[in-house]
Amino acid sequence: MHVIVIGAGIAGLTAARVIADRADRVTIVERDRLPDRADDRPGVPQGHHPHALLVAGNDALEHLFPGLTDELATHGAVRADAAEDIAFWQLGAFRTRYHSGIAVVSATRALLELLIRRRVENGRKISLISGTHVRALIGVRAQRVDGIETNDGRQTRADLVIDATGSAGSNGWLHRLELPVPVEHRVRVNVGYATRHHLQGLRDRGLTPFHRTSYAPVRTFLLQPGRDPGKFCFGSLSSVAFGGLQCRTMKP
Ligand SMILES: Cc1cc2nc3c(=O)[nH]c(=O)nc-3n(C[C@H](O)[C@H](O)[C@H](O)COP(=O)(O)OP(=O)(O)OC[C@H]3O[C@@H](n4cnc5c(N)ncnc54)[C@H](O)[C@@H]3O)c2cc1C
Repeated sequence: MHVIVIGAGIAGLTAARVIADRADRVTIVERDRLPDRADDRPGVPQGHHPHALLVAGNDALEHLFPGLTDELATHGAVRADAAEDIAFWQLGAFRTRYHSGIAVVSATRALLELLIRRRVENGRKISLISGTHVRALIGVRAQRVDGIETNDGRQTRADLVIDATGSAGSNGWLHRLELPVPVEHRVRVNVGYATRHHLQGLRDRGLTPFHRTSYAPVRTFLLQPGRDPGKFCFGSLSSVAFGGLQCRTMKP
C-alpha cells in the first residue's frame, strides 16, 4: 500500500509515522523547501508565535517518538511545572503557586517540527518531497481518490491520500471530484497575536528562569489584566530554547 501525506507540519509528520506501521511506502509532499535548522518557514505562518506542549500532546508525541522530550531539552527547550514555575496574574491577583507535577514543555514550534522530521525521515518506508505544491486530487469522478497532482503537472498514484494541509486548507479538492465533502465546524476565535523575540543574558546560556522570587524560579509570566471576561486581553513572557524569550500579547 502506497500512502501520500500532503503537508509536512506536525499533523503530516505524525500521520506518516503512524501509517508507516501499516503501509509499504509513505510519501510526504510539502510545498515549502524545508530548512535543516529550527527556522520558521512561510507555510506555517503561526510558527514564530509562542508554542507550548501540554501534557497530553507531549505524551502522545513521546509515545510515537520515544526520547523526544529529552532531545528537546538538550536543544534548550524549557520544562516548567504548570503551577509552580508559571506566575499567572489573573483578574487582579497572582494565582497560587504550588508543585503540581504537571509539566509543560516550552519550545519553538520550529524546533519541535525539526526533531520530529528528522526521526520521520529516518523511517525506512518514508520519503519526503519538499518544495512541491499539491494542486489537486486525482481520482474517479464521484467514486474515489486515486492520488495527487502537483504544480509541475505530475500525477502520483496512491492507495490512500491523507490531507494534512492545516490552516492552508485543501480548497475544494473533493468538491471538484464530486465526492462528498465532510461537514466542517468552525469556531470563530477572533483573537490577534503579536510576538516579539528577545535574547536573555548570554552569560548563562541555557539557563531558563529569567526572574527569581523567594519561592521558586519563574519560567513564564502570564498576564490577564482585565476583570471583564468579555474584554479578553492576555500577555505572556516565556523562556524558549537557549537564552530566548518570547513576549506575546493577545487581543480581540
Ligand atoms: C498563534 C498560534 C499559537 C499556537 N500555540 C500553540 C501552542 O502553544 N501549543 C500547541 O500545541 N499548538 C498551538 N497552536 C496550534 C498549532 O500551531 C497548530 O495546531 C499546528 O501547527 C497545526 O499543525 P498542522 O500540521 O495541522 O498544520 P500546519 O502547521 O498548518 O502545517 C500544514 C503544512 O502543510 C503544508 N501545505 C499546505 N498546503 C499544501 C499544499 N497544497 N501542498 C503541499 N503542502 C501544503 C504547509 O506548508 C505546512 O507545512 C497555535 C496556533 C496559533 C495560530
